[in-house]
Amino acid sequence: MAELEDLNTIPANMFVVNLDKKKSASILERRNEEGFLAKWKKTPSSPVELNELSQLQTIISNFGFSSTLDSWKFSLAHDRIFRVDILRYQADLALAVSSPKRIEWIHTVPLKILVFLWRVSMDRIPTTDALSHRGINVNSIMCPLCQLDVEKTYHLLVNCSYSEKTFRWIFEWCSMEPQKFASVAELLDFAAKWGNRAKKKKIFLSVIYGTIWCIWRARNDLVFNNTPSKPAKTADNVNSLVFGWVNIGTKWEMEIG
Ligand SMILES: [Zn+2]
Repeated sequence: MAELEDLNTIPANMFVVNLDKKKSASILERRNEEGFLAKWKKTPSSPVELNELSQLQTIISNFGFSSTLDSWKFSLAHDRIFRVDILRYQADLALAVSSPKRIEWIHTVPLKILVFLWRVSMDRIPTTDALSHRGINVNSIMCPLCQLDVEKTYHLLVNCSYSEKTFRWIFEWCSMEPQKFASVAELLDFAAKWGNRAKKKKIFLSVIYGTIWCIWRARNDLVFNNTPSKPAKTADNVNSLVFGWVNIGTKWEMEIG
């Protein structure tokens, strides 16, 4: 019995398919007991057309059509049921084969923020430097927050004086010494490895993710809304944001310290 994949091997550019009155006709519309039965605008006659017609009839006559409606099956899962975590795992494997796992998919952190963090971990966020490398015209590739360096992911989120000040507030709230990081990966690894109690680890990771997100938001507010804000305000935003996520019933700085 032929497998579904056999039908996918029918090239859409077959000459004989183009001879049908309706090129977009489904296989269901064009099959009969002998196999493929088209409604020709011109009957196949050349050797190529006749050969293709024969191939089509063989493929279709060998295929076991079901009487049930078509449905999607998720080939990456054993049970063929679609699951986001499996898709994400496979995407991780495909896109960051050599990178260690740096992002924890904490269910209380909104998905759009986790996806942003995932892109950060792969250095794929639309900084002006990244956009200009993709051939997009930008007014300036300098960091909008400090105007002192090119806006690359590392500079914007870790090395910029704005980000450093924001993180200084955050670490102070966490009763931790200010930390310096040589890369975004180092920051994410630090956050992933910090602590040894599950609840505290999760809160701290959420705080770091929230900080990165809020710095990006502050940058966007400045770029798109011409609304500057000070690092202390951004750190305040982190506090409110993460407090909502972790729902621990008390201020998170008390839990972490
Ligand atoms: Zn900067």
